[in-house]
Amino acid sequence: MNAPSLVAECDVLIVGAGIIGLAHATEALRRGLTVMVIDRDSRAVGASVRNFGHCCVTAQSGDLLELAQTARERWLHFSGLAGFFSVESGGLAVARSTEELAVLEELSASRETGQVRLVTGAEVNDRLDRDGSLGSAGSAGSAGLIVGGAVLRDDIRVDPRQAVAALAAWLDDQPGARVWWRTSFLAAAEPTGIGAGLVRTSRGSIRAERTIVCVGHDLDYLYPEVADEYEVQRCSLQMARLELPGARRIAPAVLTGTSMLRYPAFAQTRAATQLRRVMDDRHPDLVDIDANVMFTQRPDGTIIAGDSHHYDQSVAPFLAEPTTDLLLRHVREVLGGPDARVIERWQGVYASSPLQSYVIADIEPGLTAVSITSGVGMTIGFGVAARTFQTLG
Ligand SMILES: Cc1cc2nc3c(=O)[nH]c(=O)nc-3n(C[C@H](O)[C@H](O)[C@H](O)COP(=O)(O)OP(=O)(O)OC[C@H]3O[C@@H](n4cnc5c(N)ncnc54)[C@H](O)[C@@H]3O)c2cc1C
Repeated sequence: MNAPSLVAECDVLIVGAGIIGLAHATEALRRGLTVMVIDRDSRAVGASVRNFGHCCVTAQSGDLLELAQTARERWLHFSGLAGFFSVESGGLAVARSTEELAVLEELSASRETGQVRLVTGAEVNDRLDRDGSLGSAGSAGSAGLIVGGAVLRDDIRVDPRQAVAALAAWLDDQPGARVWWRTSFLAAAEPTGIGAGLVRTSRGSIRAERTIVCVGHDLDYLYPEVADEYEVQRCSLQMARLELPGARRIAPAVLTGTSMLRYPAFAQTRAATQLRRVMDDRHPDLVDIDANVMFTQRPDGTIIAGDSHHYDQSVAPFLAEPTTDLLLRHVREVLGGPDARVIERWQGVYASSPLQSYVIADIEPGLTAVSITSGVGMTIGFGVAARTFQTLG
């Protein structure tokens, strides 16, 4: 076979047009570099369009909180430039037990005033635009009353289906940037010698000073040794979209007790230890599916609801109906009423490592792989992109 011909040149080649690849591309542009993004698909259909669109800033801690705050600014900035929906909605953590409330109280006390603001059951109902007949601490069904909640000030939301497509289109319009779809990364040539800096793609070779590979959970397809080092697996999640009767508006991203066992700022409280015991005892079914019962509302009024977590090297294509039933029962309880109708179901997949929330790995000179290895790519992606370029100098 002949060597593929040179089809393009740039300073930085990004592989993958999900949010992580696009965030890196915007960072390259900010630094005055020419950039190309290639993706094997004809549009983004990976994790970046299958999620809640929730930038879960407030419930991060330490390094992740810092990355999330950077990402928050960039989301709002690019939403203006590229013209996609974003809203400084905050998050709403709904407490349905005193143990959940204790987690929120402890977190609130540890943060600057107003960042985690405790609210009554009545205010939770208001923010959920729930039927007034459910009362200020309205019955939420078998899971008990809504006893209160907390507004998570710094959380923002985008519509994932719109945001990633709009950002890619905006990038492709910028001088010095190009996005090529249906173009697969095949291999990087040897780092030295005549082919140095050449990347083989399904459309020919691209010469780049630096290549950043952002292929999400497919990291192991290209670099199994890196995936093994960080014990990266695939996490698969069951999701659904619901249509609500009436014209209810629910601005915040809505989290529940299961979310309090997942996101670090909640999970690191002392009260979370007791909550974990209570969950094991009262909701072993939710614990079994590693649930994070939460939802967000799209601009068209429909609700993105989820999710369960299953970890494996490869993802089975089969969705378990009892898992979706269980998740939706809890989502409907918080929504208040049985009448939210399912209009779509899907499976999402992201990379997961028990060791790190994200991986920036030098593969060889000029070639770096970046993968977010926890369920927070929308929250920290732009922050990680800035970090990658700082690391590269
Ligand atoms: C159901 C679900 C809910 C989630 N909810 C949230 C949330 O609310 N908040 C949050 O912060 N995070 C959330 N996440 C996590 C977040 O969505 C991911 O961390 C993030 O989208 C990962 O982005 P990515 O660009 O790495 O991956 P992807 O979006 O999967 O993009 C990878 C891209 O690489 C391309 N590619 C792969 N191989 C090649 C190749 N050889 N050549 C060219 N292109 C290639 C693919 O076509 C794909 O477009 C959720 C994830 C899921 C699945």
